[in-house]
Amino acid sequence: MSVAITMIGTGYVGLVTGACFAEMGHDVICVDRDEAKVELLRRNVMPIYEPGLAELVSANVAAGQLRFSTDVSASVKGRDAVFLAVGTPSETGSGRADLRFVFKAAFDVAMEVDKPTVIVTKSTVPVGTNRKLANLMATDLQPRHRVSVASNPEFMREGAAISDFMEPDRIVFGSDDASAIEVLERIYKPLTDKGAKALVTGLETAELIKYAANAFLAVKVTFINEIADLCEKVGADVEVLATGVGLDARIGKAFLKAGPGWGGSCFPKDTKALIATAQDFGSQVRTVESAVSANDARKRAMAGRIASLCGGNLAGKKLAIFGLTFKGGTDDMRESPSLDIVPLLQALGARVHGHDPSNPRSLSTDLPDLIHHVDPLEAVDGAEALVILTDWPEFRSYEMSAVAKRMAQPILIDTRNMYDGAAVLAAGFKRYYPIGRAPVI
Ligand code: NAD
Repeated sequence: MSVAITMIGTGYVGLVTGACFAEMGHDVICVDRDEAKVELLRRNVMPIYEPGLAELVSANVAAGQLRFSTDVSASVKGRDAVFLAVGTPSETGSGRADLRFVFKAAFDVAMEVDKPTVIVTKSTVPVGTNRKLANLMATDLQPRHRVSVASNPEFMREGAAISDFMEPDRIVFGSDDASAIEVLERIYKPLTDKGAKALVTGLETAELIKYAANAFLAVKVTFINEIADLCEKVGADVEVLATGVGLDARIGKAFLKAGPGWGGSCFPKDTKALIATAQDFGSQVRTVESAVSANDARKRAMAGRIASLCGGNLAGKKLAIFGLTFKGGTDDMRESPSLDIVPLLQALGARVHGHDPSNPRSLSTDLPDLIHHVDPLEAVDGAEALVILTDWPEFRSYEMSAVAKRMAQPILIDTRNMYDGAAVLAAGFKRYYPIGRAPVI
C-alpha cells in the first residue's frame, strides 16, 4: 500500500532513498533548501554522480511517483512520514556531530504538519538525538498534530547505493512508538516481502548500531593497512594474506583491502562522533581511537612514500594522480585521502596533475592547485610517476602501454593494488609499486 513520504534533504542519501521509495510504489516528495539542486533535479540533471540514479529518478518522475520542492511547509502537509536526510557534519574542533540541520528540519516539519505524522531520522545522529526530538515534540513544541519519532539509519554505500538500498543486509527500525514502527513496516514492506531482514529496536540501539557498524568497518580497514605494512617488511603478500584470513567465516573477506587510508563522508566523522559519545558517557572506545590516529598518520605517510619511490626529491617534478574521490563510483570528495596527500606532495615541490572519471564538481575548491584532465593521457604527459589513489574499475580498462609511453618516467605507484605487476611491466612501465606486496621491477 502506497505511503505518502517527504524527504527533507536531497543529497546522496535523501535522493537515493526518495527515488527508491518511489520505485517501491510510494508517493514521494524530495525537498531541499538548495534551490540550485532542486532546479537541476526538475530538469532531470543529477546533482551527484551515482550509477543508475538518473534512470531511476526520471522513470519515477514520469510515473508521477516522485516530485521535487524547496518548500518544506507545503511538502509536509498530508504526509504519513517525513524523513530527515540532512547532513550531520563534524563540528570543528570537538568531533561531535553538528545537529543544527537535523533540529532545524524537525522543528520546521513539526510546525507545519496538518495531520499525525512520523518524523523518521535517516541522518546519522548520535545516541540521544531521537529521544531529544521525541521529548521536544511532546513538551516544548507541542505541535497541533501528534508527531512521533523513529530512527531508521542508512547503510548504503556511495557507488552502489541503489542496490544497497533495494537489497539491504538489514533494515533497522528504532522507536518506542508502535504507530511509528507500523508506518515504517508499511514503507519497507516491498523489501521485507522479498526477504530483507528488519530489526526493530529502541531509539538508542538503532542510533548506536549505525555508529558501531561504521566504526567496525573503519577498524577492519585500519587493521589490514597495518598488516600490509608488516607484509612489506617481512616479504609477505597482503592480497594473498587477506584471502587466507577472510575465508574464515568469523572474519569475512569484505573490507580487507589495503589502501592509502580511509576517508569519505561517513567513516571520519562517524568515528569521531562515536569517540565523543563514549567520552560524554564515561566509556572508552580505544580500538576506534587507535584506528582514527593510525589512519590519519597513514594518509600523511603516503606522501612521503610516494616521494621516496620517486627518488626522494619532488621539487619541480610532475606527478600524475588517477582517482581523487574517496573511492571509485562516486564524485564525493569529502575527507578523501587525496585531500591530505596532494597538498603534501605539492608542499614537497611536485606539480600535481589529476584525472578522476567523475570530474568532481568541488575539485576547484577542494584542491585548487591541482590541474585536472578529463583525458587520462593528458594527465600523465611528461609525468615522473603515476599514482593510483582511488579504485575506479575504469582504470583497469585504460591502455597502459599508451599511458607508459606518454610519461617521462614510467613508474606506477598503485595504492589500491589494482594491477598485475608483470602485465604493467609488459606494457612498458619500468617499475610497479603496490601496497603490502613486493614491487615488480
Ligand atoms: P548531503 O550533504 O549530500 O545532503 C544533505 C542535504 O540536506 C543537502 O542537499 C542540504 O542542502 C540539505 N538540507 C540541509 N538542511 C536542510 C533543511 N533544513 N531543509 C531542506 N534541506 C536541507 O549529505 P548525505 O551524504 O546525503 O548525508 C545525509 C546523512 O546521511 C548524514 O547524516 C550522513 O552521515 C548519513 N549517511 C550518509 C551516507 C552516504 O553514503 N553519504 C550513508 C549513510 C548515512
